[in-house]
Amino acid sequence: MNTAFNLDDYIRKVPDFPNKGVLFYDITSILATPKAFRYCIDSMVDIYTDKTIDAVAAIEARGFLFAAPFADRMQIPLILIRKKGKLPGKTLSKKYQLEYADAEIEIHPDDVPSGKRVLLLDDLIATGGTLKAATELIVQSGASVPEIFGVVGLPFLNYAAVLDPVPIRTLIQYH
Ligand code: AMP
Repeated sequence: MNTAFNLDDYIRKVPDFPNKGVLFYDITSILATPKAFRYCIDSMVDIYTDKTIDAVAAIEARGFLFAAPFADRMQIPLILIRKKGKLPGKTLSKKYQLEYADAEIEIHPDDVPSGKRVLLLDDLIATGGTLKAATELIVQSGASVPEIFGVVGLPFLNYAAVLDPVPIRTLIQYH
């Protein structure tokens, strides 16, 4: 891994998106730069190679983009957590509160390996509300979540308290 690499150079910051007052950290600029995307996936593989991770679960939609190459490199199952109504099989679903609206996510419990350790992953961790609901879906499906990973973390939004006691790791944090 290239330790001199500065991931911040490849994250576009968009003020007032999607709402006034929100600074949006855009990872499309990582995806559009092969060396930045490679850096992220290599870093994730380096971090988790020696840890017992049996599967990875990712949140629609941007989480999928990092989880898919990671799952392939690690040769572990990839489980999709999607917005309501997208998964065709038997589902478990969970409603949760966003800042201005309600949301609902779903999982195929049959895709979750029973009794195994599932790393939960998203592109960016903000309030942690989505990942909290996703953690509950994985646990209800019969597996455990030993750790949560985000490419970007916004710790000032207090996600650590929301996701407690699950440890959280990110490649870059903004304060
Ligand atoms: P949360 O449930 O609050 O942790 O965030 C839910 C999703 O919203 C995350 O998966 C992010 O992709 C997205 N998100 C929230 N805040 C931001 C932000 N400031 N910049 C980019 N994405 C964000």
